[in-house]
Amino acid sequence: MLPAYISHPDCLKHAMGDQHPECPERIGAVSDMLLIKGLLDFMQPCEAPLATEQQLAQAHSSLYIHTLAALSPREGSVQVDPDTSMNPHSYRAALRAAGAAVLATDLVLTKGAGTAFCNVRPPGHHAEYGAAGGFCFFNNAAVGIRHALNVHGLERVALVDFDVHHGNGSEDILRDDERVLMCSIFEDKLYPFCGNVPRGANMVNVALPARSGGELLRQAVTEQWLPALERFQPQLIFISAGFDGHRDDDMGNLGLVEADYAWITKQIVAVAARHCQGRIVSCLEGGYELSSLARSAAAHVKVLLGMDD
Ligand SMILES: [Zn+2]
Repeated sequence: MLPAYISHPDCLKHAMGDQHPECPERIGAVSDMLLIKGLLDFMQPCEAPLATEQQLAQAHSSLYIHTLAALSPREGSVQVDPDTSMNPHSYRAALRAAGAAVLATDLVLTKGAGTAFCNVRPPGHHAEYGAAGGFCFFNNAAVGIRHALNVHGLERVALVDFDVHHGNGSEDILRDDERVLMCSIFEDKLYPFCGNVPRGANMVNVALPARSGGELLRQAVTEQWLPALERFQPQLIFISAGFDGHRDDDMGNLGLVEADYAWITKQIVAVAARHCQGRIVSCLEGGYELSSLARSAAAHVKVLLGMDD
């Protein structure tokens, strides 16, 4: 089948207030740009299913899953952490976002989709084993990775995370899982203010100083990510695709541009081509300035589709 494009209308119903940067319009900004650029013509659109409790429990404690479900309000909103709240639609949106990663994994591993891009929210990489945080409820990528390992029986899955913030939730869930290699690059001294000291032997954490720009990012990926990925020989690669390191996005200060996201995606595609028949699942994480988010995501997807030359 064609590379999969996975989303769901439920992802637009979760909202955390008019002024919140993690807003429903992010999804439409990305899908509009993929449409305008003609990229959706080369993708199979799929509706994200609801993740099951069993699937979520591969990455989260049952207590946490039940607590979050019980918090879900019938009306109004409930604050989960200072930056994160639930409206009556949030829990279902979170199930869709995690379900997208599960479906993407199935399509890439058994239907020959090659690659899949999940245009979903809420994002996932700050969600820990037993805690929501940083706009995240369930760790979509980690749920998909555990599905690949525990249900499909893969032995080695890599996660690369280029969001401007460190994926502390993914690290919390996946640390010391020898079947996983996680490579994270992020801005130093920024939320969630950790990651400088890796929490497991399977973590490659690279903290970049503010205003590093694309050159330092490329150097760090070349020197630290790529040798580790080559040694690991992944059978599937997940991407936590956050675009908030863009210079137009005031959530961070790395000063990246579309070409940097295209470049980093190209490196991942090359590793996937060498080791796992090109199999990549990419999940949207951050990116809050709608225009640069849309342009960067389109640059990323274009390379995923092999249309960058
Ligand atoms: Zn972020």
